[in-house]
Amino acid sequence: MSLKSSSSSLQLFHLNTGSCNGCDIEIIASLIPRFGLYRFGAELAETPKHADIILATGPVTVKTLPEVLKVCEQAPDPRIVVVVGNCGCTGGIFDDSYPIVGPLNKFIPVISYVIGCPPHPQIISHAIVEVIKSNEEVFKKLSKPINSPAAPSPAPEGFRGKPVFNEKCIGCTACVTICPCQAISFVDNGEERIISLWYAKCTFCARCQDICPNDAITLTDEFELATLDASQAKEIVEIPLRRCRTCEKSVGTTPQLKKIEEIMSKVGLTPDDMEPSFYLCNECKAQRVANLYSKKR
Ligand code: SF4
Ligand code: SF4
Ligand code: SF4
Repeated sequence: MSLKSSSSSLQLFHLNTGSCNGCDIEIIASLIPRFGLYRFGAELAETPKHADIILATGPVTVKTLPEVLKVCEQAPDPRIVVVVGNCGCTGGIFDDSYPIVGPLNKFIPVISYVIGCPPHPQIISHAIVEVIKSNEEVFKKLSKPINSPAAPSPAPEGFRGKPVFNEKCIGCTACVTICPCQAISFVDNGEERIISLWYAKCTFCARCQDICPNDAITLTDEFELATLDASQAKEIVEIPLRRCRTCEKSVGTTPQLKKIEEIMSKVGLTPDDMEPSFYLCNECKAQRVANLYSKKR
């Protein structure tokens, strides 16, 4: 039997664990008539004791943790926690800073993660509706039909949503270096360079798009980023690596070296003009210089 509040409207308890307030504003916006929640009477609960769903924002700080745990303990069974915003999903821009002890799922089970910094109110609304749909027994008190939204609203002009890679990526890693949130990372696995973009860390700042020399990453207006598993909200590209002709270490990616060849050809140079060092790794280049130097002495 559900121990949820007897109110026939959906009771949402808003829990700020140390956010910048961006996500909190969007939670309020998700309750307006334009988005789906309003149609079945969603309202903010005054106390966690009445919470059907806890909507948590922020990365969880040293100071908020005891209160956060107290609030969650007061929520009726079954406790349903939805995290709103990247700080709540992964620590976001506050990750690794000294007062942060989160994210919340280290302490409390989380049922859904709404990705964004902050997320669009429509996807907050949509994520809550999905939680209700998948827990029908708990939410059977709701008398209104659950359809959200009736007609999805397009993102406003200039909205910065999910960045995506295209086939022009040469694996240069300029975007990895420029990303202020460590949302993009790479690893060379011997055969390929694997570049990974983790949306649950991204602030959608567009610096990667601006720095990319090949127009290979673009921000879209896609904001449907709610997920049951924030660790899987990733975009991955794999680029073949080129080996050092002496030691077989990686000297960069194949398309990256092709790009350099193209640039060289514009000034009348070919890789042969730079032989034998063009396809050598830095260590082998240094060794070659040292050998030449010792022969001359
Ligand atoms: S996810 Fe972004 S908007 Fe939301 S609390 Fe964190 S920094 Fe603020
Ligand atoms: S997306 Fe652009 S900047 Fe990033 S690795 Fe690919 S080519 Fe380089
Ligand atoms: S938009 Fe690009 S640079 Fe900005 S946080 Fe996201 S991945 Fe990093």
